[in-house]
Amino acid sequence: MTFDNLVTGWKDSVKFGPFFQGDLLDRAALDEAFATYQPAAVMHFAALSQVGESIHDPGRYWRNNFQGSLTLLEAAVAAGCDQFVFSSTCATYGEQDNVVLDETSAQQPINAYGASKLATEHALRNFETAHGLRHVIFRYFNVAGADPDGDIGEFHQPETHLIPLMLDAISGKRDALTIYGTDYETPDGTCIRDYVHVCDLVDAHVAGLQWLLDGKPSEVFNLGTGSGFSVREVINHSRRVTNAEVPVTTGTRRAGDCTKLVSGSTRANSELGWRPDRSTLDTMIADAWQWHKTGHYTE
Ligand code: UDP
Repeated sequence: MTFDNLVTGWKDSVKFGPFFQGDLLDRAALDEAFATYQPAAVMHFAALSQVGESIHDPGRYWRNNFQGSLTLLEAAVAAGCDQFVFSSTCATYGEQDNVVLDETSAQQPINAYGASKLATEHALRNFETAHGLRHVIFRYFNVAGADPDGDIGEFHQPETHLIPLMLDAISGKRDALTIYGTDYETPDGTCIRDYVHVCDLVDAHVAGLQWLLDGKPSEVFNLGTGSGFSVREVINHSRRVTNAEVPVTTGTRRAGDCTKLVSGSTRANSELGWRPDRSTLDTMIADAWQWHKTGHYTE
C-alpha cells in the first residue's frame, strides 16, 4: 500500500498495490490505513527535500518532515507495526573539511532539511528503546537517473535539481542551467556530490527490508558510490551522453549547499551485499535523458 498526500508526488508513479491518499500529519488517516492494510513494515520516503527552500521556510520542513515522521511513528507503534525503513540523507553530515563520510561521522547539518531528517533519526532510536521498533536508516547521497523502462522518472514542480534542470536546458525547455557558485574550495570551484541511481536505491531498500524481516538489529547505511563529481563534471558528462551543448550561466552560491558530500563507507556492500552497478554518471544521465524525452505525469 502506498500512502501519499500527492503534494509533490504523482499518482501515476504508483505502479503496484493499493493507493491511499492522506497526509502524515493526519493521524486518523494513518490509523485507518494501518487498520485496513496491516503492513508488516513501513518504508518512509515522504519528505520535502529542497535544501534552498528549507533555509527560507524552516517551519514547513520541521512540520512536514519531523512532525509528520513522528505522527507516522506513533501510528505504527499503535498498530503494532515494528519494522521501519527510513530515507535519511547525507545532508545530516553538513559541512566538513576533508572528512571521509561514513556512518560514524559527526552529523552537523547546515540546513533545516538535514536537521529535520537528523531529528527523525534520533526519534527512531528513542522509539526502539521505548517500543522495540527496529529500523534501517538509509542516508541517501544524490539520487539521479530514472527507471530504464521509461515508466517512472523525476518530475518536480518546480524543478530544483541539477540533472533534470540541465536536461531542460539542453532540450530548450529552459534558457540555461545556472551553476550555483564557482568559488567553492574544490578543484574547479563548483560543488561536489556523490550521485546514485534510483534503481540501485530500490535494490538497497529491498535488502534493508529483508534485513529487518530476518530479525537483524537496527542499522544505518550510507547509500553513495564513493565517487564525487563537481557540477562542471556533470555538465561535461551530459554533453557527451546527449551529444548536445549545455547552455550554462554562472550564478552565486545557493544558501544551504555544502561544498562536498561524498560517501566514504562500504557498509551497505559488506552488510547488505549492495552493489550500485547502475550508478555510473553516464548511465544515470542516459536514463534521465531517456525519461526526459518521453516521460511525464498527468495526475
Ligand atoms: N546546482 C546548480 N544549479 C542548479 C541546481 C543545482 O549548480 O540549477 C548544484 C547545487 O548547488 C549542488 C548540486 O548542483 O551543488 C546538486 O544540487 P541538487 O539540487 O540536484 O541536489 P542537492 O545536493 O541539493 O540535494
